[in-house]
Amino acid sequence: MQRTIELLVQATAADQILLQESMSRHTTFRIGGPADIFAVPRTIEEAGQIVRICREQSTPYYVIGNGSNLLVSDAGYRGVILQLYKNLREISVDGETMTVQAGAMLSVMAKRALEHGLTGFEFASGIPGTVGGAVVMNAGAYGGEMKDVLEEITVLTGEGTIETVPAAELELGYRHSVIPERGWIVLGAKLRLQKGDPGQISARMEELRQQRVAKQPLDLPSAGSTFKRPEGNFAGKLIMEAGLRGFSVGDAQVSEKHCGFVVNKGKATAEDVYRLIREVIARVREHSGITLEPEVKLLGEFSAQ
Ligand SMILES: Cc1cc2nc3c(=O)[nH]c(=O)nc-3n(C[C@H](O)[C@H](O)[C@H](O)COP(=O)(O)OP(=O)(O)OC[C@H]3O[C@@H](n4cnc5c(N)ncnc54)[C@H](O)[C@@H]3O)c2cc1C
Repeated sequence: MQRTIELLVQATAADQILLQESMSRHTTFRIGGPADIFAVPRTIEEAGQIVRICREQSTPYYVIGNGSNLLVSDAGYRGVILQLYKNLREISVDGETMTVQAGAMLSVMAKRALEHGLTGFEFASGIPGTVGGAVVMNAGAYGGEMKDVLEEITVLTGEGTIETVPAAELELGYRHSVIPERGWIVLGAKLRLQKGDPGQISARMEELRQQRVAKQPLDLPSAGSTFKRPEGNFAGKLIMEAGLRGFSVGDAQVSEKHCGFVVNKGKATAEDVYRLIREVIARVREHSGITLEPEVKLLGEFSAQ
């Protein structure tokens, strides 16, 4: 690991490489132990260098955006976390095309779309993630999803090449894409929006914002919907019907406000959340026969995993 650190510091700048950085500072759950190395590349070239060094040194690496769909274990991560969020977030608009770097926040992109009178991205305005994470997850809300607007992405492959991949080749489905299994890092994306009426776009965003405020526990740390929506049903409804509203393990709790969310009431550990998730899955299965699947990505070691 020492050699990896030396090479990374040479290839980037010392202040871009943090050691034993607590992942609780980089996830919306506010949970997670230390990453051995936390790298914040300033350019796409630096991101490429970091990946090359990791591969040459056989050091594991993992890329994150805003950490809003992530549960990192209490032991943290043994390897390099690459955060593409602080620096790589340029956005440009040309006609109906929006071109972005992977670290651009969806909320900022939605604002920019509004400024240019472009419609089609209102659905994403309240999702607290980067476009990189949103493409990987095919994030969606209120009837829209990334698949509807994505034209192509630029990726860094495991072999170190930069390639452009059309959206049609990403197998975008419900909270799914082929990106993780291909080992790609999303560097940027091109979206196709349409000309619209700024008044209507703004009103729709405001309407969706109010719906989120009314229904979601936005006052407590979480990773959004903890479970995927089972075919023809809703995770929150199944959890509520199983009598689990407010069910807790330590400081991790099934939200009182929205049973589809697990929230951190203050000092929840990753293990608390993990045990809660397993218990919810078991009890919902017992009650309804339906097996819930986590939407939240787990990173690092968990007990009994
Ligand atoms: C309050 C709240 C509300 C939410 N509402 C919604 C919602 O309505 N709809 C919805 O779909 N989601 C929702 N989410 C979940 C989350 O915001 C989305 O999944 C979001 O797209 C994740 O983006 P991120 O940048 O935070 O990704 P992260 O959590 O950092 O990463 C998610 C996954 O993507 C991978 N990844 C991230 N960036 C890259 C990259 N550049 N290249 C390759 N892989 C990458 C990571 O390795 C990880 O596997 C919500 C979360 C919260 C906390």
